[in-house]
Amino acid sequence: MEIIKIERKILEKNDEIAQKNREIFGKYKLLVVNMVSSPGAGKTSILENTIKYLKSKFNIAVIEGDVQTDLDAQRVAKYEVPVVQIVTNGACHLEAKLVNDAISNLNFQNVDLLFIENVGNLVCPAGYDLGEDFKTVVVSTTEGDDKPLKYPRMFLNSKILIINKIDLLPYINCDINSLKKNALQINPYLEIFETSCTSGEGIDKWCEKLSFMLNEKKKIAN
Ligand code: MG
Ligand code: ZN
Repeated sequence: MEIIKIERKILEKNDEIAQKNREIFGKYKLLVVNMVSSPGAGKTSILENTIKYLKSKFNIAVIEGDVQTDLDAQRVAKYEVPVVQIVTNGACHLEAKLVNDAISNLNFQNVDLLFIENVGNLVCPAGYDLGEDFKTVVVSTTEGDDKPLKYPRMFLNSKILIINKIDLLPYINCDINSLKKNALQINPYLEIFETSCTSGEGIDKWCEKLSFMLNEKKKIAN
């Protein structure tokens, strides 16, 4: 029982700091998206495509979370957006405290949209609030259609599901309809987008959704 108590304490402390982050994000009227997935689902590729699509309309900043290396931050930095890399040194998820530290390295004065790319892991990032507006979970078609059933908490705690690598569907054994059905069985409120970062298909719909949410947020804030 002691272990359960300690876990609860850690999460309570995390939620406190997440609330502080949320206040900072609110002050700058940012839309903040926490991108989660298993390793290799394509979070960074989706970010690159999203930045390309939205860069002329909105100012974007990125916080990259990785266990090791700043390779993803280097990829994103090529698009000339401010990016801060968090290296967790082995930890398999981002915590609100790490994001709070990263915030002090970013100037949000003119930023509209902040992406936090979490560590590739479908388990614990589901339980850690970072102060974001919502989580977007990315699943690639190569992962099979049973992911939502195996990692239900992540799908339950996300607002948007992106099914990525749809260009590979003709070559692999993935039933996209059963993937969607499984996801909606866990969370009927999930909004689903289908993308390919190779062909660029579907990136526009996801980006239009982000634009819509950003404009709504600005309306409320003013
Ligand atoms: Mg990545
Ligand atoms: Zn973890």
